[in-house]
Amino acid sequence: MRGMYIAAVAALALGLSACGGGGGGGAGDTPGATASFEAGTTMERLKNAQKVKVGTKFDQPGFGLKGLDGKPAGFDVEIAKIIAGEMGISADKIEWVATPSAVREEVIEKGDVDYVVATYTINDKRKERVDFAGPYYVAGQQLMVRSDDNSVTGPEVFREGTKKVCSVQGSTPGNNIKQYLRDEAAQLVLFDVYSKCVDALKNNQVDAVTTDNVILLGYVADSNGAFKLTGSKFTEEPYGIGVRKGDGKFRTFINDVIEKACQDGRYAKAWTDTAGKFDPNVPTCPAVNRY
Ligand code: GLU
Repeated sequence: MRGMYIAAVAALALGLSACGGGGGGGAGDTPGATASFEAGTTMERLKNAQKVKVGTKFDQPGFGLKGLDGKPAGFDVEIAKIIAGEMGISADKIEWVATPSAVREEVIEKGDVDYVVATYTINDKRKERVDFAGPYYVAGQQLMVRSDDNSVTGPEVFREGTKKVCSVQGSTPGNNIKQYLRDEAAQLVLFDVYSKCVDALKNNQVDAVTTDNVILLGYVADSNGAFKLTGSKFTEEPYGIGVRKGDGKFRTFINDVIEKACQDGRYAKAWTDTAGKFDPNVPTCPAVNRY
């Protein structure tokens, strides 16, 4: 299978140069256009169908933020497009499905989406229901506060007082923060999406928002100076691409695509064009975990 894929990639390199490269999300971004995939694989099915459904976030600047054209933009969106392109599916054939944190496993299990790229931390609990390609990025949980508030220095602050923190249902940070709370019922506010936490912070209904540093950085950049990050990262959040449990061939294919994109510059470009606007250091690709 791997050999087949490499052959396909080689064939594709020819296809690519024939149409003069790509860029900008057009048809030139489909290096998989002449690839052939093993019968019965997800890649073959999707390529033949010439459409794919991708779950991502719609309210996270830098990773997945719905634009005026109704389509999301961000690093996750670019990663998803690279994967689709390697199956010969151009970006305009992707159907984007808003996928809040708590529904990610469910939409994969139900087949509502073909894969999820949504700031999605790989962990063992989730692996009971879905499989992950990647990681393609490693974030870490942090705290965001109002810029004029210097009283929150780290998660320990919540144990000492009555301050309130907001996060999202079905997220790893929403779960992890509980160990730092004196009174979970009084101090933890959980919404379905982070943008509601951002509003609550703005309106003084909570004292902090907690999730991955890069998600928070996007909100800080968007806040006109109203918010800042505080303290340091206190977890590791390796981001994976969620696929249907047991679809090992699709997972291997996506892992190959990530490795390739990390080497040929597409990963770096995806970063620079999106989250790189507020975190200019292009991340070093973590080694994919072919578990
Ligand atoms: N990476 C964390 C998670 O997968 C937080 C970000 C999110 O909720 O999407 O739960």
